[in-house]
Amino acid sequence: MPVTIGALRERVPGETRVALVPEVADKFAAAGARVLIERGAGVSAQFPDALYKKVEWVDDAQKILSSADILLSVQPLSVAQIQSLKAGAVVAGFMQAHAQTDAVKALRDRQITAFAMELVPRISRAQSMDALSSQAAIAGYKAVLIAANTLDKFLPMLTTAAGTIRPAQVLIIGVGVAGLQAIATAKRLGAVVEAYDVRSATKEQVKSLGAKFVETGVSAEGSGGYARELTDEEKKKQQEVLDSRIAVADAVVTTASVPGRRAPRIISKAAVERMKAGAVVVDIAAEQGGNCELTQAGQTVIHQGVKIVGPVNLPAQLALNASEMYARNLYNFLKPAIDKQANLAIDWQDEVFAQSCLTHAGAIKHEPTAKLVEGT
Ligand code: NAD
Repeated sequence: MPVTIGALRERVPGETRVALVPEVADKFAAAGARVLIERGAGVSAQFPDALYKKVEWVDDAQKILSSADILLSVQPLSVAQIQSLKAGAVVAGFMQAHAQTDAVKALRDRQITAFAMELVPRISRAQSMDALSSQAAIAGYKAVLIAANTLDKFLPMLTTAAGTIRPAQVLIIGVGVAGLQAIATAKRLGAVVEAYDVRSATKEQVKSLGAKFVETGVSAEGSGGYARELTDEEKKKQQEVLDSRIAVADAVVTTASVPGRRAPRIISKAAVERMKAGAVVVDIAAEQGGNCELTQAGQTVIHQGVKIVGPVNLPAQLALNASEMYARNLYNFLKPAIDKQANLAIDWQDEVFAQSCLTHAGAIKHEPTAKLVEGT
């Protein structure tokens, strides 16, 4: 029997993305799979039903849950949805295991093989499957557009008959995937861009995008390429330099996070109070607790004339491209698990499957999650 792949309309409020876009649904079908999609699933991402050519439309979500061998999703499934899955099914999507412990228990107890897209190892071979990166790039891009829209200023320099307008100063804090895309976007819009990250390897990347790296005069470089713990005095010096750059910025976009932990606090209330009236902070880490002390997830806080924007789920604001990239990540991840006869054949020796696996055969495979959920 060829494998049956299913995708539902996302149920989490504000989620506009869809796990299967027409191009990818057709590719799965071309690989011999039967593809079931809930009617209207792609509409909020601008993929009307008519664009999907080789799928079977289903009105009843329960039917997809109970008949899919592989269920694809963007957001984690609810416990009720997990209870309706076919015994032994495979699910793939973002799992947010640290926050969704009841769902993890349900996946374990129903013997579901759950692959968490956030656990896909960041090795060269898996770059095309890296959904964290594809969605982070979108967040970085969108954050700069939000900053530009929130500012009462131009980003580029303008020379006009009404005089010359100076370009805006933009500071990007955290130079991972989102930060790099934020730098590139702010540069394209003509801003003068500076960036900072605790990892000194980012210095060259920042420069290659035409931005300036904020030198704090403190090196965290230790032996063997690892960062060393800074002394309190060094930390203070580092923060002082950064605060002085925050104070002169028109817009600050913060993207700093540490895997599995609360986002680091980098902009204090006092640092905000040194900023210019009308300046903007866009804090991409809002959902992880925020890089700025004043950030409120899902809100814009105005403090002494400075606007602090705490966006949630930025990729959902660019749903069409975000869904395309995410669906391609899922396809590249799962295609090796579909054999020539279109049967499901997961190679557990493959580190990509092994490391991405959250639950399988009644066990929680990801150790930090097992520790959190089972205390073992
Ligand atoms: P992330 O979202 O976890 O964090 C964003 C950035 O915040 C990181 O660059 C981090 O160094 C920085 N940061 C953390 N604390 C900070 C602080 N106090 N002040 C300033 N900056 C701080 O990062 P990411 O985008 O997921 O990337 C993480 C790493 O993975 C990077 O080294 C990236 O190059 C690498 N990566 C590798 C691959 C691959 O090889 N396939 C793909 C994507 C990312």
